Amino acid sequence: MKQIAILGAGPAGIEAASLLASLGHPVTLYEKESEPLGNITDKAFLFPNFADAQEVAVTMRAKLDNPNITLRCNTEVTQLLPSYIAGFQEENLTGTPVWKVNDELYDIVLLATGYTPFDAHRKEELGYGIYPGVHTSLEMEKMIREKRIINSVGDSPKRIVFLQCVGSRDEKSGNHYCSKLCCVTAVKQAIEAKKQLPYCEVYVFYMDLRMWGQGFEEMYRTAQQDYGVNFIRGRISEAGGTFDGRVQIKAEDTLLGRPMKMTSDLLVLMVGMEASKGTRELATQCRICGEYGFAQSKDPHLHDCQSDAPGLYVAGACKRPMTLSDSINDGRSAAYEILTSL
Ligand code: SF4
Repeated sequence: MKQIAILGAGPAGIEAASLLASLGHPVTLYEKESEPLGNITDKAFLFPNFADAQEVAVTMRAKLDNPNITLRCNTEVTQLLPSYIAGFQEENLTGTPVWKVNDELYDIVLLATGYTPFDAHRKEELGYGIYPGVHTSLEMEKMIREKRIINSVGDSPKRIVFLQCVGSRDEKSGNHYCSKLCCVTAVKQAIEAKKQLPYCEVYVFYMDLRMWGQGFEEMYRTAQQDYGVNFIRGRISEAGGTFDGRVQIKAEDTLLGRPMKMTSDLLVLMVGMEASKGTRELATQCRICGEYGFAQSKDPHLHDCQSDAPGLYVAGACKRPMTLSDSINDGRSAAYEILTSL
């Protein structure tokens, strides 16, 4: 029986592990955090149908209840090398390199180490970590989940401003790519904010809204027509603090070509997705590190779950920004590729 390791117990890793295990293949699933699915359990609702993220996480977590799956949480993989590079001589019968994962050997490895949110401190001009009214989209998600959206002095905010493309499509942060999910996430959070605080004014500053998925455009319309969310095409160049803990924003309305100033209780920065540290380090070690530190597949069209290294597969947001459903589907595709190889 071939030994299979999956690195990362996010949606892609869990889906692949579950499928392989259900067909009788033992899988060891490594996770550096204390629990799987860290990037779902910190969400409130999922777009476009506002499904409860915690319920989805429970359903996914249940997929690990299979005796063929060994889940190793709190286990960071720091070494991923073909054994012949790592100093071992072993090769399996097909001549595929046996992979060394930390100190153990596997025939097949699936890299599913996911993404990390952009660190908003890097955009100093937006005041994150300096002014208490400036939050990231992750912090906003937590406030929505706890039904406790508050300003810096603990009151209900009267105005909330969302800013798109923080750390994505941005020369200064070095990320030229679009993170794909933050437009729809801002619309979702704007709707949730209005549901919880109907009298609060909500503004979304965008470069252009990328509502590409099924049901996304309808959400955008609903946000405007049913919830009165205001969308302004423009960039915020600077955020500062006011004496009463609010946030002063300097922006430009790029449709009207006019500079503008606005004061808001909260400024929410829609942070993009970057390759996680684990993705960068492990992809570099096994020489499949592509642009921006994401893992590179063999071919984005025909072999997107394979890599150039024999026996090494890739799935989920370690390759590029992906939605939850994309990641789950990609995990399934990777499992299929692995099964085909066995
Ligand atoms: S999805 Fe929207 S907010 Fe996110 S990077 Fe792309 S354009 Fe910007």
